[in-house]
Parts: sequence; C-alpha cells; structure tokens
Amino acid sequence: MTVKVRFAPSPTGRLHVGNIRAALINWLYAKRQGGQFVLRIDDTDLERSTKEFEQGIETDLTWLGLVWDERHNQSARFPVYQQAVERLKAQGRLYPAYETGEELDRRRKVQLSRGQPPIYDRAALKLTDEEKAALEAEGRRPHWRFRLEGKRVKWMDLVRGECEVDTASMSDPVLIREDGAFLYTLPSVVDDIDMGITHVIRGEDHVTNTGAQIEIFEALGAAAPTFAHMTLLVGADGGALSKRLGSLSICDLREQGFEPLAITSHLAKIGTSDNLEIGESLAVLGESFEFSKMGRSAARYDEADLGRLNAALLHVMPYETAKPRLAALGVDLGEGFWNAVRGNLNMFGDVKTLATVVAGEVTPVVEDQAFLDAAKALLPETIGPDTWGEWVNAVKEKTGAKGKGLFLPLRRALTGMDHGPEMGPLLALIGREKAVRRLSGETA
Ligand code: GLU
Repeated sequence: MTVKVRFAPSPTGRLHVGNIRAALINWLYAKRQGGQFVLRIDDTDLERSTKEFEQGIETDLTWLGLVWDERHNQSARFPVYQQAVERLKAQGRLYPAYETGEELDRRRKVQLSRGQPPIYDRAALKLTDEEKAALEAEGRRPHWRFRLEGKRVKWMDLVRGECEVDTASMSDPVLIREDGAFLYTLPSVVDDIDMGITHVIRGEDHVTNTGAQIEIFEALGAAAPTFAHMTLLVGADGGALSKRLGSLSICDLREQGFEPLAITSHLAKIGTSDNLEIGESLAVLGESFEFSKMGRSAARYDEADLGRLNAALLHVMPYETAKPRLAALGVDLGEGFWNAVRGNLNMFGDVKTLATVVAGEVTPVVEDQAFLDAAKALLPETIGPDTWGEWVNAVKEKTGAKGKGLFLPLRRALTGMDHGPEMGPLLALIGREKAVRRLSGETA
C-alpha cells in the first residue's frame, strides 16, 4: 500500500502555525513512508474563499519546502459530490430539513432547560410529502442532513490509540446548506475515497467529525482511511492558542525573518518525545518522524524556542548557503566575514548591522579618549587574526586596565556597540585604517 495523505486548507485566510503543523506532519509521514502528499484546496465555500488566499497557501507551503505531489480544488468537483448526494438520498441517508437557525436555537434552549442534550430531534424525518411541498411553497429551501446510524464508531488512531465516538449523542450533520453549498464534511470523504487517501492526519478538534465521517465512508461503500488526530497547539504559557492563531501567520513569521527550517523543526518536534533541535533538512526531520513519539501531551508553540532554533541554525550555516542571501542584501563580504559574524545572528538580517561595522561607517562610543590614544599608539602596523590578543595584552601592560575596563572601551570604539562577535576576527576585518580613525573618536 502506498501511503497517500492530504492537507486540505480552506482559502479563507492565511496559513498559521496550526495549519502548518498539520501540513508538515502529513508531509513528513508521507515522505518517511515513500508516499505522496496531496494539496487539496477546500474551497467549497465560494463566498469566503479567495484566489489570493489560495495563492498565499501555495506561497507559504513552497517557502517552507512542503511541495505537493498532487493538487486539487474542491470547487472543481461539485458534480462528483452531487453523485454521492444522489447515492445517499437513494439510501435514505440524506434528508431535507427546513428549520431556520432561530427555530433550531429555540429547540436547543428547550432541550437544555429540560436537562436533555441539545441534539437535533429529527423532526424533519417525520414530514410528509405534502408538508414538505407546503414549506417549499412558502419559499423555504431545505438544508440536507446525514442520518447517523447512532452507534459506537470505533477506530485505531495513530496518536490516540483506540477511539470511539457514539454517533447517537450527535446531531445528524448538515452536509448541504439551504443555498445548495456543500459543507466540508461530505466533499472531504468523497475526495478521500476518490483520491485513494490512506491516512487522514489532522487536529483533535476533528475527532467528533471522524465519527460521522466514518459512517459516511461506510454509506458510500468505502473503507475508512487510517486516522491520526494530533493534540492542538498551546502557547508558551500552556494556554490554548486557538484565539491567537490568526495572528501567527506564516507570512508574518517570514516577514519577521524566521528561517523556514527553524519553523518546520520547531513544529515537527513539539508534542513529541524528541529534543527540540534543528533538523538538517526536511528529509532529515522526516527520517526521525514517528507517530509513536507523539503523545497526548500538548504541543507547545513557543516563539522564544523558535528564536533559539533560528539562531542555532544561523550559527552553523555554511558560507555557501549564506552567500547568495548575503549578496542579495549587498553584504557579501566573504567567507571570513560570514564565519566571524554568524555566531552572533538571531535573524539573518542582523548581518547588515555587522557588515556596517566591518565595511560601513561606525560612530565610536568614546568615554576616555586618553585611554584610546594609548591603545592606538600600540596598534601594530599589520593586523592579522592574532593581533587582537597581542594588542590587548600590550594595552593592559601599558595602562593597567583589565577585564571589562580593558575590553569594553576598545569594543565600543571599534564597533560602536557593547556586544557583538569575537573581536579577533572582527578587528582583522575592520582593518588598520578604520581602526585608527575610530580609536581617534572619528566616524569611520
Ligand atoms: N479544511 C478542513 C480544516 O482545515 C480540513 C480538515 C481535514 O483535514 O479533514 O479543518
């Protein structure tokens, strides 16, 4: 059996870290199993779906490296869904209901006040043909509900183990709205069958859905795929992230300068027994991916952890990888420069400031010009990678300064900053001429 999974986002907004975790886990699992990853645009809601958001989904997935083997739009498949509808109607599993939203609300309130569960009472099933005709003559349009069998639906979930949903405790789900629009439930099942999806991997907010959807698979004469329901993301404080997800879009993270592999490494490792660390590539992340490592504990999305992973990735990034990006920023100052500064980067873009220290103008921070003059007089004629150590020793002997009182004024004068990369390689890159001018208090 070739594994085939799908990621089915709705193009009604930008992808956020929660969506991407689902996409990523699907992708990693497929690659690990030598399988295929399908991108299925869930655009059955024609009013809320837009081409811009669809384009955004593709841009974000591509940027992250989550390339797809197949791509579909649900909006192009309405005739296929209609066939399934006819089949379910013929079996008496799909029935028209005419209640308005207010009527349903009112009934739910009554049920709750009587201590009953707010389940749809199936009043529509009792309507005679004449009653239905009368309602339609009034101008009412039906929505269509799937008649659940009301049984214990069981499956072996790859994350949650044995699962059971009692569909007797659920309302018959609406599959088609009054305006004829398909809700996600039926097209998803029809597509999973048609496309040969073997594994449905999604968030645990879909567990109840799964109970109903397994009944739909059965009604359509198909075997249900294997399911895996992942725990939902929580924030650094352990609180639910659902309300904040809208503001955690992948395009925002991209604009903030996060590396795609830092994001995918973070999202692949949280909620698993693996250590939080950078994977060398998506393929390497795939090699270590196992559902058995995913527990029931929450997956903690923590931007501070993401920041640490981002920095860790930059700290070992080879020059060859960095070179085109440095060139694009106009700061490709060679391999020596990159190796000298990469250990100090949190975001790739920080390199611009450090390039200024080496090749641009710095206004030195001067507190004690006499001390700097003494240091300047001791600066060797030629500056190499070992110069800094020798020079600082000479300055120490001459002035008696030590520790912070020795290093900090020199760093401030030479770089204009309190912190930064190691001064040895940096001084060699700054060069004698600029060093002398900065030690003199000049902007250079
Ligand atoms: N469009 C649905 C969602 O984003 C897909 C759910 C699924 O994977 O079945 O929630």
